[in-house]
Amino acid sequence: MAGNWKMFKTPAETKDFFAKFLPLVEKSGHADIAICPPFIDVPAAVEAAQGSRVGVGAQNCYWQNKEGAFTGEVTPAMLKAAGCTYVIIGHSERRQYFGETDETVLKRTKAALEARLIPIVCVGEMLAERESGRTNEVLSTQFNGGIAALSAEEFAKIVVAYEPVWAIGTGKVATPEIAEDAHKVLRGLAEAAFGKAAADAVRILYGGSVKPDNVTGLMAQPDIDGALVGGAALKAEDFAGVVNF
Ligand code: PEP
Repeated sequence: MAGNWKMFKTPAETKDFFAKFLPLVEKSGHADIAICPPFIDVPAAVEAAQGSRVGVGAQNCYWQNKEGAFTGEVTPAMLKAAGCTYVIIGHSERRQYFGETDETVLKRTKAALEARLIPIVCVGEMLAERESGRTNEVLSTQFNGGIAALSAEEFAKIVVAYEPVWAIGTGKVATPEIAEDAHKVLRGLAEAAFGKAAADAVRILYGGSVKPDNVTGLMAQPDIDGALVGGAALKAEDFAGVVNF
């Protein structure tokens, strides 16, 4: 269960969140839990999460670990050194607004793995693509361009997130059946690239307007292994409600 805070919260607000959130998930041993705050909040989150079951992640990273003249970028190795366990890669907002492509997703994922971070690699179709019947084609292009070129060892260490763009931040959650269909497609793509055992083992999260009151139906689907949560991860009670579905 991963929370993506996007561009919300200061370090002080991060500390407050953890003070409220940790007691609510103390006994949630059924799930791995991650909070992905903005870079600036990572040290406060790592400090606050110390000794807890909650891992901290970033929302993006650069595609090489070698330091250099790349103003505004952060290497995966720096994130690891700061205490991160996870990093979200290829979120649709990065694809839409910051020029992320399947090629850069692949490069960032490889660099993150090199630094021993767990990449949460996002894929998902836009509304127009779904409405024109192109969902499976889009998932296939994104998977084959951004993920399939990993080695089998690399693939075994990533988490995939299916996030239909039309469901992100819109309150329009995909029905459990629609989400399950897409997850099945992704598991099929994983099987074609890496074999059945690897496809069965990979964790595929659903993301898009997940809330405490809709998470149970989604999690009941056989191919949905967890959730990537935006808006509802900003409030401790709401995200705990999702984690403790
Ligand atoms: C997200 O940002 O990854 C996300 C799924 O957002 P929301 O839950 O707000 O739709």
